[in-house]
Amino acid sequence: MTNHHDGSCLCGAVRFHTSGDLRGVVYCHCSQCRKQTGLYYAATDVSDADLRVEGGENLTWYAASDFARRGFCRVCGSALFWKRNGADKVSIMAGAFEAPSGLVADSHIFVADKGDFYTIDDGLPQYARSSAAVAVAGNDD
Ligand SMILES: [Zn+2]
Ligand SMILES: [Zn+2]
Repeated sequence: MTNHHDGSCLCGAVRFHTSGDLRGVVYCHCSQCRKQTGLYYAATDVSDADLRVEGGENLTWYAASDFARRGFCRVCGSALFWKRNGADKVSIMAGAFEAPSGLVADSHIFVADKGDFYTIDDGLPQYARSSAAVAVAGNDD
């Protein structure tokens, strides 16, 4: 199977398998991602059709806003997924993939909201809010 990747939460109660190309990793520094993780999101995404989840009954979906929800393991708390309402794809936390992930870093978004206790100096593009290439909420809605 080409472009197949596996991943899981920390405890293994939720496992996932993807096929197809994985988007470059986008780091989201918004306050919601910061609060949820303690730092920031690092996420790729895949179309719904390219994602298979095992143990989905162990996923809890939390709607931090009226435009998206966040899926995490209810056993160990690992953040795993972010899904915009009505979208046909889902973002997956890059760190949940087994190595080698083959993932490539892409850019930073919502840097205007980032925590004040770290700096971003990896040379990747930085966007104050979202980037046109990344379908997240907050461009202008
Ligand atoms: Zn877990
Ligand atoms: Zn965010």
